[in-house]
Amino acid sequence: MRVIVLGGGLIGVITGYFLAREGHEAVVLERNEALAAETSFQNGGLLAPGHSQSWASPGALRTLIKSWFEREPALRLRLDAGSSFWGWVLPFLRQCNESSYRANTLRVMRCMMAGLDDLRALRAETGIDDGGNDAGILYVFRTEGSLEEKAGSWTLLRDHGLELEDASRERCVEIEPTLGPCREEIVGGFHAPGEGSGDACRFTRELAVLAARQHGLRIELGANIEHIRGSAAGVEAVVTDRGEFAGDAYVLATGPESPGLVRPLGLRLPICPAKGYTVSVSTVGYEGAPQVGVIEEDNLVAFARLGDWLRVGGQAEFSGFDASWRPANFSGVFRVARELFPDGGDYYRPHYWACLRPVTPGGPPILGASPIPNLFLNVGHGAAGWTMGSATSRAVADIVCGREPDLDMEGLAYGDQ
Ligand SMILES: Cc1cc2nc3c(=O)[nH]c(=O)nc-3n(C[C@H](O)[C@H](O)[C@H](O)COP(=O)(O)OP(=O)(O)OC[C@H]3O[C@@H](n4cnc5c(N)ncnc54)[C@H](O)[C@@H]3O)c2cc1C
Repeated sequence: MRVIVLGGGLIGVITGYFLAREGHEAVVLERNEALAAETSFQNGGLLAPGHSQSWASPGALRTLIKSWFEREPALRLRLDAGSSFWGWVLPFLRQCNESSYRANTLRVMRCMMAGLDDLRALRAETGIDDGGNDAGILYVFRTEGSLEEKAGSWTLLRDHGLELEDASRERCVEIEPTLGPCREEIVGGFHAPGEGSGDACRFTRELAVLAARQHGLRIELGANIEHIRGSAAGVEAVVTDRGEFAGDAYVLATGPESPGLVRPLGLRLPICPAKGYTVSVSTVGYEGAPQVGVIEEDNLVAFARLGDWLRVGGQAEFSGFDASWRPANFSGVFRVARELFPDGGDYYRPHYWACLRPVTPGGPPILGASPIPNLFLNVGHGAAGWTMGSATSRAVADIVCGREPDLDMEGLAYGDQ
């Protein structure tokens, strides 16, 4: 079978790998001159099922409104958020109730836990070293109030199978000694010993090279998809500025851009771009960078150790498809970094990045068959695509090949959001 995979981020490449590995002729189309050059380029780097909580929670509207009055909000809605946001926000608000929150959170956790296992299996199978580690993640809180307010969502995850330990301030310092000098900044939190970190871009690019060499995966760079030619009866070809690509099946993996590509075919994908900011700093010559992944929950700032680098990221900004950044956008991230890890890395020579999370209203991705018989979906991975991507891609490859996937697909199909 010849399968055309649209999009060369981590999701498209891993899907292409699984298809090529079992002998299919797989072609990945990517508009950039490199793979994983957009959202998958410099994401937060954490493999964190402990952060499965759906953004669509009963308190989400209050958080959104409060953010307008904060100087450094973790969540920001700009008035020029664009039609992608205004068409998405109603389905989002509809899911901001306790029962949807629980169901969505558990769906995301299921995908993330399966994804972590599958990623580790892929690393072992391919020998790829993406610079990450399996040292676990600490979710830390700055005040007793915030810990008390948010603890329930971790109880939900623990009750459904996530390995999680309550961690006092002293236990946090024992787990991650670099927190020691600033221990007064935190009150404690939770420790997920089974979690870790990794460089998504490095993994994706190395996997593509290996898949091309060993399994014949074809990568077409610099191929901008202009439209998908076809009808409700089936896709006939993908039209790019480098010509047409036709196959027996097509997998959509174009991240935040996905809704626009399939709208002319009559498909509605409720996916909105939510911008985030990350910065990487060198840890060479610095003694205070954490080995363990850390998420500071009051400001939602994440720290991932990737070899000789510390990646720090945060914020969710609804501002349409604008992925630009200015150094001023990172002030909140740097403030928290200096408060917790003052000697964590070279904060004077930062490598800045901003990119767009492809977010569905409830949080779970949209996977598998679409109403168009030969078009399959692997989209909407939001803030968790690096953790869940190996499992969702394996599941979609299984579905393309006509097999029942191992991943429980409840709530993950087209139309479920
Ligand atoms: C700031 C931030 C931090 C994050 N941190 C984490 C984390 O710590 N852990 C975690 O698990 N997840 C994290 N994520 C989420 C994760 O990075 C994403 O879910 C994942 O990268 C999505 O991958 P993708 O392949 O779907 O999208 P992308 O990486 O965006 O890939 C889609 C590809 O399609 C291509 N494309 C789009 N349109 C076209 C077209 N018309 N023609 C040709 N090609 C096209 C794009 O160029 C792109 O390369 C984070 C995201 C952000 C933004």
